[in-house]
Amino acid sequence: MARWPYCTSAWKRLRLAKLAEEPLCYACTLRGQTVEAVAVDHMKAIRDGGDPFPPLSGLMALCERCHNEKTASMDSRNSRKGARRFKGFDANGNPIDPGDDWHGGGSDH
Ligand SMILES: [Zn+2]
Repeated sequence: MARWPYCTSAWKRLRLAKLAEEPLCYACTLRGQTVEAVAVDHMKAIRDGGDPFPPLSGLMALCERCHNEKTASMDSRNSRKGARRFKGFDANGNPIDPGDDWHGGGSDH
């Protein structure tokens, strides 16, 4: 994780602030599990026009497993637009991924 903006001190401060505010994994919490978050990721990817240093509400805290899951699906050459970054559904049966079309956000097609 040495790429910009993750190598900047501004990002490191933002990451710590997010983890202080939201110490539990966003995706696991939606699944009804309590897992400590270790990574912070953007709700909207920088390459999709997202702010590299968004307010804390533009970030999500993730555990290592969910972060790897998201990174793997986002970076996969086979990932199609609109593919879910997180598998599964929350307790209400809604898709966990905040970028999922169900939420009406994420993509501008
Ligand atoms: Zn998790």
